[in-house]
Amino acid sequence: MDFLPVSLNIKAQPCLVVGGGEIAARKVGMLLRAGAHVKVVSPAINEALAEWSAAGKIQHRRAEFQESDLAGIMLVIAATDNAALNQQVSDSARKRNLLVNVVDEPALCNFILPSIVDRSPVMVAVSTGGASPVLARLLRARLETLIPASYGRLADLGARFRGQVKQRLPNTVQRRRFWEYIFQGPIAEMVYAGRDNEANAAVQSALQETANSPALARGEVYLVGAGPGDPDLLTFRALRLMQQADVVLYDRLVTPEILDLVRREAERIYVGKKREFHAVRQEEINQRLVRLAKEGKRVLRLKGGDPFIFGRGGEEIETLAEEGVQFQVVPGITAASGCASYAGIPLTHRDYSQSVVFVTGHLKDGSVHLDWASIIQPKQTVVIYMGLAGLNNLCSELISHGMPATRPVALVQQGTTRQQRVLVGTLASLPGIVAASEVHAPTLLIVGDVVKLRDKLAWFEEQH
Ligand code: SAH
Repeated sequence: MDFLPVSLNIKAQPCLVVGGGEIAARKVGMLLRAGAHVKVVSPAINEALAEWSAAGKIQHRRAEFQESDLAGIMLVIAATDNAALNQQVSDSARKRNLLVNVVDEPALCNFILPSIVDRSPVMVAVSTGGASPVLARLLRARLETLIPASYGRLADLGARFRGQVKQRLPNTVQRRRFWEYIFQGPIAEMVYAGRDNEANAAVQSALQETANSPALARGEVYLVGAGPGDPDLLTFRALRLMQQADVVLYDRLVTPEILDLVRREAERIYVGKKREFHAVRQEEINQRLVRLAKEGKRVLRLKGGDPFIFGRGGEEIETLAEEGVQFQVVPGITAASGCASYAGIPLTHRDYSQSVVFVTGHLKDGSVHLDWASIIQPKQTVVIYMGLAGLNNLCSELISHGMPATRPVALVQQGTTRQQRVLVGTLASLPGIVAASEVHAPTLLIVGDVVKLRDKLAWFEEQH
């Protein structure tokens, strides 16, 4: 992080703008909106500034900038087209530990002005740390379309009822849920439609109801598939639940980028299991989910891929069901789909493969026992999860059970992420190729003639 976002209270604070052109005027306008006392120093000023000056809204000194202009000032913005002058303003201000911004010169700034979406009192600020103001503006434009114009009035509604709600709902979890309900449901719609009286009454009765029914504080478990790694592959539902969880239990397969999207305040508990090494045993996870939910928490159980595909999701919700804990399951994109798409390998294809099977290459005791006869069927794609450790064994078993040694195989490492890498060979050659490369988990094997299509269909750029 190069800049820490903060929101400054500059009401009635003396601020200086050096420069008198259009950009200076824009900055002055912004400072005025935030209630600052603005002084402008410049030998000449444009029309807008002249009007403000005439109306007594700003103070204007018609001269070149001098060191003494900084006396008593809290914040300075330099907006001149004179590089030497900008540099001088920045140096002098920094010597005095003032907040200083030089337009379009991040190196001369100790603060920068983000692009803002103004829904006062709600403010959304977008900054690229000075790297690309255009990018910030584009993002801001997108946010503008997402946030209703009267969003600020929701905040006013919150402010109106805040004290009362705090008093009537002493439990913080309950309070948060109450507000989430108010801000996302029909009451918010009333506010957007300008029906404020109706909204006030509705908040009042919702509060009454909530205070009388502690049931709202009942916990729940969300068993959510996080997909194979790329955060763009999350479902809307997954994202929504991720943002309202109180606590998250996550796996080794959940990428940091995805974990970043979980509500910031949620407690994070790592329960990853490596093959062989079980950081937290499954039974413990099951019990922990039950315990947390019974404490009234909204518990997010976040799993790589799809929870019901080699994810032991079934075992986890079995315990929940037995214990009477409410839960919901959200499917995710399983590694087979994600890796196949991003590697340019269709899992089925009318010319090459009429069926696809997903198998696990790893069993509890480390051995591989598969229904070989059904797996080696022609015109079938075989996707092998957890197949890296037993790769040599798997390939030689497939050959000895009758699959041609020339059958193409792809190994997809860290599929759908920026670290994705695909190694392609045959049943005979892949073990050697893998041995000679530094391969990182997780990896998925795709066996079948469809692998040949990769040359034509690959689209996702790999880093290696
Ligand atoms: N529930 C998960 C699978 C869990 S089993 C799902 O539906 O995808 C763990 C195995 O999944 C790993 O050993 C690996 O074979 C595979 N896997 C998961 N994510 C992967 C990824 N991004 N790239 C390659 N393989 C992956």
